[in-house]
Amino acid sequence: VQEWQLAARPVGRPVPGDFRLVERELPTPAEGEVWVRNTFLSVDPYMRALMSAEETGSLAYALDRPMTGGAVGEVVVSRAAGLSPGDLVLSDLGWRTAAVAPAGRFTRLRRVEGVPDSAFLGVLGMPGLSAYVGLTEIAGMRPGDTVFVSGAAGAVGSLAGQIARLRGAKAVLGSAGSAAKVEYLTGELGFTAAFNYKTGPVRELLAEAAPDGIDVYFDNVGGDHLEAAIDALRPNGRAALCGAISGYHDTEPAPGPRNMVELVKKRITLRGFEVGDHADLQPRFAEEMGGWLAERKITFRETVEDGIAHAVDTFLGLMNGRNTGKMVVRI
Ligand code: NDP
Repeated sequence: VQEWQLAARPVGRPVPGDFRLVERELPTPAEGEVWVRNTFLSVDPYMRALMSAEETGSLAYALDRPMTGGAVGEVVVSRAAGLSPGDLVLSDLGWRTAAVAPAGRFTRLRRVEGVPDSAFLGVLGMPGLSAYVGLTEIAGMRPGDTVFVSGAAGAVGSLAGQIARLRGAKAVLGSAGSAAKVEYLTGELGFTAAFNYKTGPVRELLAEAAPDGIDVYFDNVGGDHLEAAIDALRPNGRAALCGAISGYHDTEPAPGPRNMVELVKKRITLRGFEVGDHADLQPRFAEEMGGWLAERKITFRETVEDGIAHAVDTFLGLMNGRNTGKMVVRI
C-alpha cells in the first residue's frame, strides 16, 4: 500500500518537498482488526495546522510517520464482529490507500440513495456538521436575519449559506475568490448577493452588498473579512468563528481586527467553536440534512482529484482555492 508522510515541517506555504509518498506492506489483521481499502480521502484546511509542531502540540503530525485525515473506504478483510467485507466505513486513517486497524477506528456508514460515498467527507460529514452547528448553535441565527458567509463557495461555506436560506434568512450574502464562484453562489445556491473578495477592499465590497448591515457573520477566513464584518454587524450582531484560512500559512500571528471597540458599542458577540465538541448533534444533523438532500433543497458540489500520488497537490490546491465545494481525492 502507499501512504503519505510528513518529511519536514513547512515554513509558510507548504511545498511538495515537505511530504513523501512511501510504499509499505500491511500486516494481516489480528483478532478484532479489519483491513480497509480507502476509496476517498479528505483534504481539509485544519491539516495545515497539524503540519506545524508549535500550533497544535501533541495533535501535530509526527515527522516520518503516516499522516491522518478523513477517509471513506470498504472493508476487505474483517476479523471483528460487526464489520463484514463490503461494508462502507469512515475513519481518520486517510492519506493512505489502505489500513489495518482495530474495528473501533472505523464507523460503519449506510449508503444514501443518490449521494456519492464521498459525501460522508463533505455534505453529510464533518464540514456539513460544522456549517449546521456554527450557524444554528453558535451564531444562533434566527428567521429574518441578514447573514454573511465568507469562504462561501467551499465545503462549509456553501452549506452554511444554504442552511441560512432554509432557516428563513432575510438575505444571504457570500464572498469567494473568483467570478465563477460568485456566479455559483447567486445562481445554483440561491445566495441573495455575493462578491469576489479579490476585486477590492472587503470592507467596501461588503458595505455595497449589505448597505443596511448584517445580523450574523459565519467566518471561514478571518483577517480583513472579520474586520469588515465587525463594521457591518448591526447592534447585537453575532459571529460564529469557524476558521481563519487567510492566516494559516502566516509565520507570525497577524494583528487582530483594528475595530474591536465596535464590539462594545454594538454589543457584538464573536464566538469560536470546534465541530468535534458537537458530536451529540450529529444524529439531528444527519436527519435534517438527509431530508434537505432528498427534497433537493440543498445542492452540493465536490471537486474530485484522482490518485493517491496527487493527494499533496490536491491539498495545496484546496489552500489556493482550486476547489468549489468539498475537495476530495479518489483512490
Ligand atoms: P473550503 O472548501 O472552504 O476550502 C478552502 C477555501 O478557502 C478555498 O477554496 C479558498 O476559496 C479559500 N481561501 C484560501 N485562502 C484564502 C484567503 N487568503 N482568503 C479568503 N479565502 C481563502 O474548506 P472547508 O470548507 O473545509 O473549511 C472552511 C473553513 O472552515 C476553514 O477555515 C477551516 O479551517 C474551517 N473549519 C473549521 C471547523 C471547526 O470545527 N471550527 C471544521 C471545518 C472547517 P476562494 O477561492 O474563495 O479563495
